[in-house]
Amino acid sequence: MSVLDLARPELRAMQPYSSARMEASGGQVFLNANESAWVPVGDDGLGCNRYPEPQPAALVDALTTLYGVRGEQLLVGRGSDEVIDLLVRAFCNAGRDAILIQPPTFGMYAVCARVQGATVVEAPLAADFTLDVDAVLAALTPAVKLVFVCTPNNPAGLAAPRAAIERLVRALSGRALLVVDEAYVEFADEGSVVDLIDRHDNLAVLRTLSKAWALAGARIGSLLANAEVIALLRRIMAPYPLPLPCVDAALRALSGPGQANARERIGIVRAQRVRMQQALRELPGVREVLPSQANFLAVRFDDAGATYQRLLAAGIVVRDVRRYPGLGNALRITIGTPEENARVLAVLASDRVLA
Ligand SMILES: *Cc1c(COP(=O)(O)O)cnc(C)c1O
Repeated sequence: MSVLDLARPELRAMQPYSSARMEASGGQVFLNANESAWVPVGDDGLGCNRYPEPQPAALVDALTTLYGVRGEQLLVGRGSDEVIDLLVRAFCNAGRDAILIQPPTFGMYAVCARVQGATVVEAPLAADFTLDVDAVLAALTPAVKLVFVCTPNNPAGLAAPRAAIERLVRALSGRALLVVDEAYVEFADEGSVVDLIDRHDNLAVLRTLSKAWALAGARIGSLLANAEVIALLRRIMAPYPLPLPCVDAALRALSGPGQANARERIGIVRAQRVRMQQALRELPGVREVLPSQANFLAVRFDDAGATYQRLLAAGIVVRDVRRYPGLGNALRITIGTPEENARVLAVLASDRVLA
């Protein structure tokens, strides 16, 4: 069986939209797409009067080199958020199919499923927030087409061991596509599982430039998967998903100097993560700092609501994650610059009660 047997059959038969940009080859005078013949004011050499390439070759090249995959194994979209949505739309029939998630986890999987009319099956993470492969397999039904694993996990911060991912993808073979969201993997001790896509056609890996690459504003996310899955998603994606200024920003971030800069910042974040873990554990009102492989810490407080308000009154905005199962007394604090982190510690160490 092909992994595409899990996808919506009508999409495999559908004639995709064919854009002017896709049909064009060669030529110097472009009168085929009703674009303006003139560049806009302030264009700066980008050529924004023209539609962009649907999958810009230079960006695809840079990303395949970065992630260690072949061109036909990569789809680049407007952030992983768009790629998650495309996966759900390609694999889940409204009113019939389902996705499986492990709460607490990233919210977009369930949101995309609900917009599509797919059911959300939940198999919670273990009490210590590690991936529970047996619980996933026990909760699996024939309706489940996609299983999402977020590692390192957002919002808890732990990473799933590679052996657990391997066991899960093997068990799901022929039954569901395993989508491993590695939005924070650059900050983790253990590397990506992307090398496994050559061996498992039911494995897909999400990567993003939004976190470690400091490009959340450019919206560049990738799906790395079997070539057939990528080809299917290319048939249903938006005709021109990637704005030229965003592609340009990504190419600069992925240049030699850009990569050196990103590596340096990742080192700073990892060092600051250790410093914050140690310092937070010493503070009054802090019950537990969860271990983290990401660029944030989930921290349990005696009174998370009051702590949130106290930080806010000092101008510091953190994420209230109390609505997530198992995190009823926790806040999620992103690792900032050393100065920003020191401010967090200073506010928490002070006895002032502002709220
Ligand atoms: C931030 C985040 C994303 C979003 O990535 P974009 O590429 O910015 O859309 C995806 N998954 C997880 C787990 C995240 O925390």
